[in-house]
Amino acid sequence: MLMSYYPASIQKLIKNISRLPGIGEKTAERLAVHILRGSRQEAEELAHSILIIKDKVRLCKRCFALSDGDICSLCSDPARDPSFLCVVEQPADMVAVEKSGAFRGMYHILGGALSPMNGIGPDDIKIRELIDRVKKDPIKEIVLATSTNVEGEATASYLAQILAKYRNQVKVSRIASGVPMGGDLKYVDQVTLKRALETRHAF
Ligand code: ZN
Repeated sequence: MLMSYYPASIQKLIKNISRLPGIGEKTAERLAVHILRGSRQEAEELAHSILIIKDKVRLCKRCFALSDGDICSLCSDPARDPSFLCVVEQPADMVAVEKSGAFRGMYHILGGALSPMNGIGPDDIKIRELIDRVKKDPIKEIVLATSTNVEGEATASYLAQILAKYRNQVKVSRIASGVPMGGDLKYVDQVTLKRALETRHAF
């Protein structure tokens, strides 16, 4: 085994790096050697920034995106349209929608999708918090951008049903086809996602 040529300390670093997704042992070895050759300051910054995200990052109290503070930078941005809300499952989905450049509203991150098989019900994701926002915030349209797999579709249907109560205030739409069935938003290319958002249809 390649790794055993190194002293135990470097072996340990290679092992830890190779636990990261998509990183094989060869890449881990290259990264470890790179860190070893770099300055002490660079190594400290890397180690420190890893610990910082564990200590500092939390969920935004408004949209439940990842944030360094109580309210995330997007929720605090006055240039965003507060009347338009995009509901997604995970922070990575929000990043995907942002990258598409097709949306200038606010987000609501559910933190998952309904999945009776896995024991995830309405109380396990941020649905109550979404309804609270509909009651309190000046929201006029909600686009349901949950995944197009079974759980994502079930979640969108459930939300549409609940939100129907507020239909005088809020228009509810679903991202259009174009996002392939079974599609996880974060793997959909930006152009397709942009088109899906633009051609969303009313629920
Ligand atoms: Zn936020």
